[in-house]
Amino acid sequence: MGWSFWGGFLAVALILTVAGVLLRNRIRAFSRRIFGRPDLLGALEALENPAQAAPRSLNGMDRLLLPQILRDFPDFDLRQAKEAAKAYLRENLAGKEELRIHNVVLSQYFPALVEKTMVFQAAVSFREGGATVQKRYDLSYAYRLPGGAGANCPNCGGVLAPGQLQCAYCGTWVANPMGAVWSFTRMEET
Ligand SMILES: [Zn+2]
Repeated sequence: MGWSFWGGFLAVALILTVAGVLLRNRIRAFSRRIFGRPDLLGALEALENPAQAAPRSLNGMDRLLLPQILRDFPDFDLRQAKEAAKAYLRENLAGKEELRIHNVVLSQYFPALVEKTMVFQAAVSFREGGATVQKRYDLSYAYRLPGGAGANCPNCGGVLAPGQLQCAYCGTWVANPMGAVWSFTRMEET
């Protein structure tokens, strides 16, 4: 066998090695994007057997959304809001055995004129049917007036409907209407 055979053999081996590394990196990137962990086989196993799964991964958008929220609410305290989210979860999941809240992150912000809402995502585990189950919940946190608060426009005195941030009579924006509060309005398993 001549040099050309071994040269060709080495070239093919090199190409296969490079292709293998590229493929592995692509699979890891894909798995990280879809499942939040680089090991695709582990992620697929976890899907089949959620009892042994790692805590659910979250779509954290804190760094992206916080500047936008702070523009609308300069004194918004994210840490405090997350503590409120955990308290709301514990209240709604009261009675679950070995309840653990692994993480809470911001996932969405809807700055509508009438009612501004942010969505927190929480990774939670608890014991159910003899196994530890991993759950993920979306919590809606809305800024609005309590029903029937009867706040008035600071400019013209017109009555503001619950959650209304702009006066219907004179168009004045009400930055912080009396009695407006942040409250959790919805909790949904995702
Ligand atoms: Zn007004």
